[in-house]
Amino acid sequence: MHTKPDADALGSSLGMAQYLQKKGHDTKVISPTGYPDFLKWMKGNSDVTVYSDDHEKGNQLVNNAEIIFCLDFSSLNRIDDLGEVIRNAGAKKVLIDHHLNPEDFADFRSWSTAAAATAELVYDMIVDFGDEQLIDKDIAECLYAGIMTDTGSFRHSCTTAKVHETVAALINSGANVTQVSSMVYDAYTYSRLKLIGYALSEKLKVIPEYKVAYFVLSSDDLKKYNYQTGDSEGLVNYGLSIKGITMAATIIEREDGIKMSFRSIGDFSVNNFAKENFLGGGHKNAAGGKSESSLKETVKKFEELLPKYKTELNKTR
Ligand code: 5GP
Ligand code: MN
Repeated sequence: MHTKPDADALGSSLGMAQYLQKKGHDTKVISPTGYPDFLKWMKGNSDVTVYSDDHEKGNQLVNNAEIIFCLDFSSLNRIDDLGEVIRNAGAKKVLIDHHLNPEDFADFRSWSTAAAATAELVYDMIVDFGDEQLIDKDIAECLYAGIMTDTGSFRHSCTTAKVHETVAALINSGANVTQVSSMVYDAYTYSRLKLIGYALSEKLKVIPEYKVAYFVLSSDDLKKYNYQTGDSEGLVNYGLSIKGITMAATIIEREDGIKMSFRSIGDFSVNNFAKENFLGGGHKNAAGGKSESSLKETVKKFEELLPKYKTELNKTR
């Protein structure tokens, strides 16, 4: 799964692993980094090896593997230093993913940008193998969580009739939707909510000329609100909830560098925007990136780029 995994990365990986176990395989799940507490209810979470905490164990698992499944990322640079370990491993590699521009490193792939979530592709694969009856409550809830979050709770344009058919099947397999959504969404700490309040009232900048809204949070801001991994997830969407905005962004000075999130509505491709300018990518309407410059320089670069995209930003919505 990708670095700082979200519900789709972790849920699709743990769902796939449990399915393979039911088929008699010995599976190990590795995450490149840690992830937020609100995902730790998933079955199999306690057996996940966090590569950034234990390189030796991670290397050993990769080098002993016969097959390596790569879920919810399309290029090996999305998994930090684990990427080269996997590239050099002798195992067959299987990519299961729905991001744009996949790197050609896998022996097999189930890849579709039409899929709302990697979890949907895992579900399809299990069904294609004729094993739908093996999907139990635990697997169903891991996959449901991935689809629920990657569709923005069934609101984004990727929410097809097929997505609803898939989650209907997962509910029939035992997924408890109120429990899953409550575990993922109603799990804020007090300081996380205060951080969002602070960001909304003090840190939101809107530039109507470019139909852009963005937040900039410094490391001091994060410290003040006792920032934990995952606390800024979803913040970017508030920018997009303003009428008339085409692109929303967050620029956050995290401990491990400057992390950016981009969201758009309509034809404006934040995948291109992130790829062209901020060492990133993702999907047309949801992408991320990073910057190796200072926070100040990054914000300046972002602001100075906008005139170049003015026509495109104004075309949509
Ligand atoms: P988020 O803004 O929630 O971190 O990420 C939005 C989407 O962009 C996700 O699908 C994620 O996988 C992708 N993404 C986030 N950060 C990066 C990045 O640094 N590089 C690439 N290629 N994709 C990213
Ligand atoms: Mn995903």
